[in-house]
Amino acid sequence: MQIINPATEEIILELQGTSKAELGSILASLREGQKSWSQKPIEERLECIIRFGELIKENVNALAEILTMETGKPLQQSLNEIKGAQNRVEHLRQNAKKWLAPETLVASGSTHEKIAYEPLGVIANISAWNFPYNVGYNVFLYGLAAGNSVLYKPSEFASLTGKQFEKYLWQAGIPENVFQCVIGDGSLGQQILDADLKGYFFTGSHRTGLHIAKAVAHKLVPVQLELGGKDPLYIMDDVSDVKQAAINAAEGAFYNNGQSCCAVERMYVSEKIYDEFVAAFVAEVKSYKIGDPTSLEIFVGPLTRKQQIKVLENQVADALNKGATLLCGGKVIEGKGYYFEPTVLIYCNHEMDVMKEESFGPIIGIQKVSSDKKALELMADTNYGLTAAIFSNDEQRALHLLNQLNVGTAYWNCCDRVSPNVPWSGRNNSGVGSTLSTQGIRAFVQPKSYHLRR
Ligand code: NDP
Repeated sequence: MQIINPATEEIILELQGTSKAELGSILASLREGQKSWSQKPIEERLECIIRFGELIKENVNALAEILTMETGKPLQQSLNEIKGAQNRVEHLRQNAKKWLAPETLVASGSTHEKIAYEPLGVIANISAWNFPYNVGYNVFLYGLAAGNSVLYKPSEFASLTGKQFEKYLWQAGIPENVFQCVIGDGSLGQQILDADLKGYFFTGSHRTGLHIAKAVAHKLVPVQLELGGKDPLYIMDDVSDVKQAAINAAEGAFYNNGQSCCAVERMYVSEKIYDEFVAAFVAEVKSYKIGDPTSLEIFVGPLTRKQQIKVLENQVADALNKGATLLCGGKVIEGKGYYFEPTVLIYCNHEMDVMKEESFGPIIGIQKVSSDKKALELMADTNYGLTAAIFSNDEQRALHLLNQLNVGTAYWNCCDRVSPNVPWSGRNNSGVGSTLSTQGIRAFVQPKSYHLRR
């Protein structure tokens, strides 16, 4: 497999992918390792995870360089991601023991009743490339803490980062037969679906997620899918600082080049502040520094995958054909690297792909709205259900709308944000199941009920 730097299109490295025979023996060793790993006291398992967090912190600069080199993520954002992911380690340190402890529900009378939480066994973690630290940590750290062995398949676009996870987890004391990172593309993913695993934890597109759900359905094992979104942001007429709202909205749309599952993907702006907001929004987008992602100054780097350029070009052409106006961007940047200009389209409507299909790139469609009722109707007009955001001065007014939306996460005066304290989950085409929080660790265990007659 060739690992290509998306900023320069140079081959960084050629890696040998994991063969079918290797996958078989890796799985056999993970099954063996899981038996003793699950028997270790939770304190010992957590010690390894905490040590892993320390190793990542000690090596943050080198790790950020690797992430930037293989995904094109601007260096400052790579550093932010790696540092930010530490909160998962801290959260587990504080809570995992409590969440995994057996619970006695009835401790009097002739029959006592309790629940114990047992690991699933060897689980698969098939992952996306866009935030490999965050989405990886959300699954494998929680799965390991709960006593499972993990077969980790990073995206082929984040293979080097995946191998770094393996290296530091092993250094931190997690046995080699408890965590293994396998290297390959979708065909390796397919072999994992065909193998005997006790749970499938997937982060990626709706298309692949649906395929996975169907392919493993007959196994009757847990399947968790963290999928894409078409996340709306509504700017109400009462925002006190329109310029600041525009700056925050632009960051939500263009951070990591729009390649976030919870990036702002479409915007609705009240007609009362529309002109002022759009002017401030475009000024902010035009101020972004675009270029070599290894420079700390750069906010917009290349796309990670060349094939996304076609998706963005098609969305721009479709929107323009149907009456949108381009205020900036709209095309690829000539030269080496998969660069696409940050793009703002106005006069958008729901006939256009840019308002309906996941863009996953530096492009945003804006639609003017005349009322909260109309904004709600448009926000709800989607098959996805990951997040929705509202900027307003009035919490009750915002919550009145957010409460009616079928999404896993609702944001008031913020967006594009994930916290380990609360579940991360999608609805409809955005997936099923939860990572993070109490529920995110319970996803990796199965309850056993005890009825103990005295
Ligand atoms: P893909 O669905 O293309 O790939 C995800 C993973 O699945 C990759 O490791 C991929 O391998 C693997 N894969 C591909 N084909 C198969 C198959 N037949 N069987 C098993 N595995 C397979 O998604 P992306 O990596 O492009 O990620 C982007 C998507 O992820 C976006 O839609 C984004 O919104 C979503 N996402 C959702 C998040 C959430 O928490 N809800 C968080 C982050 C991203 P390979 O890449 O090597 O082909």
